[in-house]
Amino acid sequence: MARIELYDTTLRDGAQTEGISYSVQDKLRITEKLDALGVHYIEGGWPGSNPKDAEFFRRAKQLTLRSSTLAAFGSTRRAATAAKDPNLRALLTAETRAVTIFGKGWDLHVRDVLKVSLDENLRLIEESVAFLKRQGRHVIYDAEHFFDGYKDNPSYALRTVRAALDGGADVVVLCDTNGGSLPSEITEILNASKQEIQTPLGIHAHNDSDLAVANTLAAVQAGCQHVQGTMNGYGERCGNANLASLIAILKLKLGIDCLPDAKLRALAETSRYVAELSNMAQRANQPFVGEAAFAHKGGVHVNAVMKNPRTYEHIEPSAVGSQRKILVSELSGRSSLVFKARGLALDLSKETPQATRLLRLLQQLEHRGYHFEAAEGSLELLLRRQLKQFKPFFTLEGFRVIMEKRDHRLISEASVKLHVKGVPEQTAAEGDGPVNALDNAIRKALRQFYPTLSEMHLTDFKVRVLDEKAGTAAKVRVLIQSQDAHDSWGTIGVSENIIEASWQALVDSIEYKLLKDQAGTAGRKPRAGDRKRARARTAR
Ligand SMILES: [Zn+2]
Repeated sequence: MARIELYDTTLRDGAQTEGISYSVQDKLRITEKLDALGVHYIEGGWPGSNPKDAEFFRRAKQLTLRSSTLAAFGSTRRAATAAKDPNLRALLTAETRAVTIFGKGWDLHVRDVLKVSLDENLRLIEESVAFLKRQGRHVIYDAEHFFDGYKDNPSYALRTVRAALDGGADVVVLCDTNGGSLPSEITEILNASKQEIQTPLGIHAHNDSDLAVANTLAAVQAGCQHVQGTMNGYGERCGNANLASLIAILKLKLGIDCLPDAKLRALAETSRYVAELSNMAQRANQPFVGEAAFAHKGGVHVNAVMKNPRTYEHIEPSAVGSQRKILVSELSGRSSLVFKARGLALDLSKETPQATRLLRLLQQLEHRGYHFEAAEGSLELLLRRQLKQFKPFFTLEGFRVIMEKRDHRLISEASVKLHVKGVPEQTAAEGDGPVNALDNAIRKALRQFYPTLSEMHLTDFKVRVLDEKAGTAAKVRVLIQSQDAHDSWGTIGVSENIIEASWQALVDSIEYKLLKDQAGTAGRKPRAGDRKRARARTAR
């Protein structure tokens, strides 16, 4: 099959996700990461629309990109002539080899939004493309609303594309901008359009019907050679086609060589890295790259996977840089505990009294309300402590939490007393609530000894009141999810007291991070994503 061009628009379309706001620095770092993954084009932003994107392109000139070509994005001209149009001029000052401009492919939009004649719209498209071509750019033309336009008025939708071709466009990208098309429609419209358009075609699909990936694949199978999407499917409304899934499917299922195999193994790490810089928790059940994508829980599943992973896995997880995960719970029993221990390079064979003892302990803890499948950090610490393969990074002498309400303002203050490497340490800190105050206090105490703690932050904090029937008193279970640029891990605490339960989860979270860093520097075989040090980011 023909080569496929991968075009990433995380930094432009993805940046329009509710809750995402990239600094120029974030954008530069994501650009380097996407280049390392090997995507062919990186759309950096819309220089004509905001000063931040203009600054990005200024600073991006200093980057040395190995695989990717930067593209600047903008619209067709609005001024009377293309040469005077500030938007097109801003595109040129970005000084990228590739330029992507979008024009209207739907007569409804031309009439109701642009409010120009249908012929005038064709002139806007042709002249804008021609202007950029005369400046020596590789011009990618995004035919906005092409599929909706085609459904209403096929001949006009095709005339807009022909106008871009007459202007000299190198690639024409057909957009399902509203994300409402079905794969069968994409196939049908593409097959019809191919008769009229000889230039390489691309696809840009939105996910409003949860079909962006399926629609993109339909387009590829109908002959599109240029695929646009965003990492983790970020994007306006319901997002764009998820490039992480697309890359895996193109490579592993369709046998299209869009990236070298070695780069494919960086996919999971890239997805996590972009999630981290986007300040979004990576979706656990995200196909291919999420934490749960290859996680097995039920005893029957675990048993089968250990005999032959193909029983419950559609691909080999390491192909995309993911890891098989066996969730240990009372459902899974002894074999998964042994498997888990082996994965952690701990010596624990199945038929030993030690394994029996650990399994019994685990079942007791589950009965008391611990729930380890979402707390693999705590589980690893528990196993290491039980097997005497853990040296604590600090010892707690005590903590105190004070809450005070004064003039309608709630103040939380925590102090902790610790011993670190033989040095007594006492600190106090305030916080938004008692747990946040404790978190601040313990980090403050440990920071000078373990500077990498500033790389991690809490991404989720869940409290659940456990059923009274399950124990003698109402207990709470606290689950904390923490993240750095490479990993995300869960920890747990259970107690009748919510502060104590939070404290347990908090301490495990910190100890797990320190353990992970220690293993990384001690030359342990690195886990997927342990390679580079994280960006410093302090917790809230
Ligand atoms: Zn879009």
